[in-house]
Amino acid sequence: MPTLCDTVVVGAGIVGTAVARLLGRSSVHVLDAGGPDLAGATGHSPGYISELGYHPVLTALATETMSLCERLTGADPRVFDRVGSIEAVTTECGVDAQQARRALAAKSGVTVHCLDPREAEALTPQCVDSRTALAALHFPDDAVTDAPQLTAMLRAQAEKAGVRFHWHTPAIRITERADHVEITTPSGTFAAARLVLATSVWARALADPLGVLVPVVPIRHPFVYGPTGHAAPDRQPFVRFPEHSIYGRWHGDRWGFGTRAHADHVADMVGRERADLRWDGTFEETMHQLSQHFKDRRLFAPTKRLDGVFPATPDGLPMVGQLTDNVWVAVGALVTHALASARVLTELMTGPADVADEAAQALAPARFADLDAEAATALAIDAYHGRVAIARSQHA
Ligand SMILES: Cc1cc2nc3c(=O)[nH]c(=O)nc-3n(C[C@H](O)[C@H](O)[C@H](O)COP(=O)(O)OP(=O)(O)OC[C@H]3O[C@@H](n4cnc5c(N)ncnc54)[C@H](O)[C@@H]3O)c2cc1C
Repeated sequence: MPTLCDTVVVGAGIVGTAVARLLGRSSVHVLDAGGPDLAGATGHSPGYISELGYHPVLTALATETMSLCERLTGADPRVFDRVGSIEAVTTECGVDAQQARRALAAKSGVTVHCLDPREAEALTPQCVDSRTALAALHFPDDAVTDAPQLTAMLRAQAEKAGVRFHWHTPAIRITERADHVEITTPSGTFAAARLVLATSVWARALADPLGVLVPVVPIRHPFVYGPTGHAAPDRQPFVRFPEHSIYGRWHGDRWGFGTRAHADHVADMVGRERADLRWDGTFEETMHQLSQHFKDRRLFAPTKRLDGVFPATPDGLPMVGQLTDNVWVAVGALVTHALASARVLTELMTGPADVADEAAQALAPARFADLDAEAATALAIDAYHGRVAIARSQHA
């Protein structure tokens, strides 16, 4: 006998869990192929939350997600902390780009202050070197979060509302019937009035048999941690060097940094149960070179390495909305946009059919209907590297 229910959410990362929590009053089951330690990207995210996006909808999603996080966590700094961020540039070209970014922030209502290199170094003495930096921006409202803990908090609230989580329960087949969807798992079948796909980089394989392309492209994304054992700095803003696509933060016992400045590597997710790969040295030299941009390089010399898998869509925006009659989707969202993306989806699912807010339109899955898989992958790689962002911000 299949388990009958209103909604099945496939994927218990931050997005699926946030969706389930909002739908909690109906009968909701969440299936995940892994366990509550979260083998997807949520379990690997170092948790930077930058408010300013290249697209106004990204900025709105980040602003909303941050205030939802603040409310949910009671502003507990162990889970969500507005440490602020510093962006430092070292070339004239970088200074010009920073002016455009400052203008974009003003237009988007995002608070930003200009700093001279000494002020930036004073705020992040181990990262920014005032002898090489030419200018810096300070975004005081940017934040860091512990994404697994945040997700555990969302899950606790969802469970309290009656949502059931099924771990180590992969959806292996989705079959659409006239008025419901069947989800086949190794331990039984669920028959749900509606299904939400929240499987991020795994979404395509599940959606392909429905005849719909869900182009969330899995891109290998390196992140490394420096040595422990150094004196802890005070609470620190996180730091970006946009000309080198580097972002770094203090993790409480060590520094860590990640980058998008590397050659393209699309991961094959077939048969892969985790959103990380074994470190095979592909990014070793890149990370070593990039660590040299930090003022105190010793603190950034890689000692722990993550070859993560990052979700990229063809335009850098999440896909949120209706896929087929009974199947909905919320994929391609960063932690930064997760809670607001979940809110948009659940409003579309439960609200009037003609919800037409700007976010819902910008995130609609139908916008990729004319793309084939190859074109979608090429665009997603560009978006990952910020090439869409650069083109858009020049017109902003
Ligand atoms: C190295 C790295 C650094 C990052 N840094 C940041 C950052 O600083 N800031 C930021 O905002 N974002 C960051 N991200 C991105 C962010 O982590 C993800 O975009 C976000 O966590 C995606 O959440 P999700 O819930 O959509 O997907 P996931 O967390 O990937 O969850 C998807 C879930 O679906 C499950 N699943 C898959 N297939 C099936 C199936 N067939 N049946 C059942 N379950 C299934 C998986 O087990 C998984 O738990 C980073 C990502 C990586 C890899």
